[in-house]
Amino acid sequence: MTILDVKSDFPILDQTINGHQLVYLDSAATAQKPQVVIDAVNDYYKFDNANVHRGVHTLGQRATDAYEGARETVTKFINAKQSKEIIFTRGTTESINIVARSYGDAFITAGDEIVLTEMEHHSNLIPWQQVAKRTGATLKFIPLEADGTMTMTAVKQTVTEKTKLVAITHVSNVLGTINPIKDITAHAHDMGAVVVVDGAQAVPHMAVDVQDLDCDFYAFSGHKMGAPTGIGVLYGKEKLLNQMDPVDYGGEMIDFVSLTDATWKELPWKFEGGTPIIAGAVGLASAIGYLQSIGFDKITAHEQALTDYAIKELKKIDGIDIYGPDKRCGLVTFNLTDVHPHDTATVLDSFGVAVRAGHHCCQPLMKWLKVTATARASFYVYNTFEDVDLFIDGLKQAKEFFGDVF
Ligand code: PMP
Repeated sequence: MTILDVKSDFPILDQTINGHQLVYLDSAATAQKPQVVIDAVNDYYKFDNANVHRGVHTLGQRATDAYEGARETVTKFINAKQSKEIIFTRGTTESINIVARSYGDAFITAGDEIVLTEMEHHSNLIPWQQVAKRTGATLKFIPLEADGTMTMTAVKQTVTEKTKLVAITHVSNVLGTINPIKDITAHAHDMGAVVVVDGAQAVPHMAVDVQDLDCDFYAFSGHKMGAPTGIGVLYGKEKLLNQMDPVDYGGEMIDFVSLTDATWKELPWKFEGGTPIIAGAVGLASAIGYLQSIGFDKITAHEQALTDYAIKELKKIDGIDIYGPDKRCGLVTFNLTDVHPHDTATVLDSFGVAVRAGHHCCQPLMKWLKVTATARASFYVYNTFEDVDLFIDGLKQAKEFFGDVF
């Protein structure tokens, strides 16, 4: 049963690769862009481009309206209380680094504990390693069950009164695990800790409500949801953002400047030093509009159906390891026995099927899985059941090919 039929909205997908129709199954790395987003960015540059905030001329006003309008769109999209809680960044990585450098360095001290999980992307691990090194805090990790989920018992054993901050991914980019952020946040708050959520793999695929989750910070990237690269979001509760110092100093973020000192603008601009990512924000607002016009209930159901179908078909192949829990977001990570995932991905590419192979920026999780690398197929709104069939056919050929070789 096809739930969505939107492939024709994405011009890049209408091409052949190595003589085969392109099947793009690498959206967890970056998603393709619908024509409306390409047009929105194009039109911005064609008709409205100017620098924002200071310009009194008409183009400057239009650019400012577009940029600040995008902030309003994001505010409603994740149900933030107010637009001053939305900071535009380059992406999830920059968003988390802002929290680590600004909040982490100021409010975490020696002896405090920072709690993470073993499934974190390097972007939500290394910034906290650095905070721990700078402050003398200790890193602790919520242990995972065999299927790559975590229990609230494990959360409660790890997040204690010593915990100052919990940094956790909403959805794992390797296992597809959907973590119980609301429950984790409630417990962390009971312990007096703040919660930073890496939403890079959640926001593109499911409705996210930051007030409902009650997390303190939430980070995501536009490029994984149909927007251009180079635009992302840091959501933070006003009270916390107000206590934090800027990270980037320079133009745009200042109020009064003398030769020896300066004061900052109010939120959110104090965190947006330099000319902002105006066209990126325009593209992000357009991508949000596009996804909302489809509806997140349909998007989630469509991806769920594709993932379930892919897993069912993969399980029919002998000698395949599939990683992650039954209930998961739209991706499947796997290995063919005795075949390096790079070889699997190379053979699939020869059939026009794009999947990712490697450690997926999760080297500690690879260690936990006891592998050096995996292959990963990830689904988005434009994928179809036929895409899954072509992927499975390609895999069977890869298996045959390497079966002959070994
Ligand atoms: N966290 C997760 C879970 C991710 O999947 C990614 C992107 N692979 C990131 C963080 C980093 O996102 P970006 O590279 O857009 O900053």
